[in-house]
Amino acid sequence: MTHASETLTLIGAGLNGPLLALELARRGFKVEIYERRPDMRRVRMSAGRSINLALSRRGIHALKQAGLWEEMEKIIIPMKGRMMHSMSGELTFQPYGKNDSEVNNSISRADLNRALMNAAEAEGVKIYFQQRCTGIDLRTGALRLHDEEAGRHKTVEAAVVIGCDGSASAIRSEMLRLNRFNFSQQYLDYGYKELTIPAGPDGKHVLETGALHIWPRGSHMLIALPNVDGTFGCILFLPFEGTDSFEQLATPAAVEEFFLSRFPDAVPLMPDLSNNFFANPTGAMVTIKCSPWHVEGRALLLGDAAHAIVPFFGQGINCGFEDCTVLLGLLDNGADWKGIFEDFEEARKVNTDAIADLAVENFVEMRDRVADPRFLMRKKVELALEARYPNLFVPKYAMVTFHRVPYATALSRGEVQDRMLADLCDGIEHVEDLDWSRADTLIRRELLSLELS
Ligand SMILES: Cc1cc2nc3c(=O)[nH]c(=O)nc-3n(C[C@H](O)[C@H](O)[C@H](O)COP(=O)(O)OP(=O)(O)OC[C@H]3O[C@@H](n4cnc5c(N)ncnc54)[C@H](O)[C@@H]3O)c2cc1C
Repeated sequence: MTHASETLTLIGAGLNGPLLALELARRGFKVEIYERRPDMRRVRMSAGRSINLALSRRGIHALKQAGLWEEMEKIIIPMKGRMMHSMSGELTFQPYGKNDSEVNNSISRADLNRALMNAAEAEGVKIYFQQRCTGIDLRTGALRLHDEEAGRHKTVEAAVVIGCDGSASAIRSEMLRLNRFNFSQQYLDYGYKELTIPAGPDGKHVLETGALHIWPRGSHMLIALPNVDGTFGCILFLPFEGTDSFEQLATPAAVEEFFLSRFPDAVPLMPDLSNNFFANPTGAMVTIKCSPWHVEGRALLLGDAAHAIVPFFGQGINCGFEDCTVLLGLLDNGADWKGIFEDFEEARKVNTDAIADLAVENFVEMRDRVADPRFLMRKKVELALEARYPNLFVPKYAMVTFHRVPYATALSRGEVQDRMLADLCDGIEHVEDLDWSRADTLIRRELLSLELS
């Protein structure tokens, strides 16, 4: 059995660390977090990996359980769908869900992070900043830390360590030295760059507020998510090398020319484009899969440390928060740490592998297919099928974003539904032409009723 008197040591005060820590502290554990960076509430820092995040059902569920949703709800912007910008500046809106209750939500990463740290500290969690974990003795739990400010090394004894230290996890690096540790990392040939669309002179958004804007251009794309301060956080996704790549955008003139030719309607909204472009780093995107996630009952990986995914389904943190929900559920059922960690991995690995694959797949959809009229028609067919068969045909995007259907189920049902859609949409131009009798046969033959939560 676990003992509430135990000290639990978490590495990383990003998004998952503080959420998990506060829930553990509420259950009576003494919890401490070691974080590499300075305290973002006191030191001005760049937001990190993206200005804002899309927060959906799984993330919201975890925040509700932690009693934080009411506070967070005040600082989110609901996005009802995607607003596609064509080359000629024509706008096409494609709703995310079947009605206005099915929205995705834009939230500032920094605001969410601050709120989570405040809440964790209010529960008695101690966060030590500028303490970089440089390794761990996985036989004893002795953590090696480097005080980034004082420049000193120290060792801390820890009974249970949870690595919430993100995609470049130091705890995972240590596990890599173990026998039979499975590990794969797959980088995309694409990089990303954060940019900003400032607020208008009246402090308001200069584009439609309640949408995620996309400029899909086949081999590359620009997206923009609204912030509460009237700005939009944008991300440019582009190959690192080759035609239309970051490599080619080496001068302000090249950047301006590229944007004018690819995203002409965005350029007037980005007065500081080239400064912004060269001030911000170009980030890489990686899928990481590994196992086992734990060593006995002594060390566990959670969130991006266990399963980093590419950002195209907007699920990284939603998935990480769902990790917290599952781990806490197992803890509440009572067992020893080893048993809890084993059951946690058993429950999550198949699902985190699935969302990793779905996220890569969604990249093609976002940068390319959303601009295709046939794809838009198919989306309408999906919604029509869902309206008639609400518990049988649930679009893949909805299963992932608006429900807590296991990701592995969303992946497998999504494949069946994709085949069905290809069949039903073959040869028709409009949703009104749908062969309902064939749809009925296919759906009743191939899909079982889905339990939606
Ligand atoms: C461009 C981009 C856009 C994204 N958009 C979305 C989105 O819309 N929706 C969504 O759900 N997800 C999104 N994600 C994914 C999301 O950001 C991650 O899944 C999430 O941040 C993971 O949380 P985490 O706590 O596991 O790791 P992180 O947030 O990375 O936190 C890790 C923490 O550990 C600290 N740390 C690292 N190493 C050490 C060390 N050695 N010692 C001590 N501390 C350490 C770091 O400083 C950091 O504070 C996006 C990611 C990217 C790159």
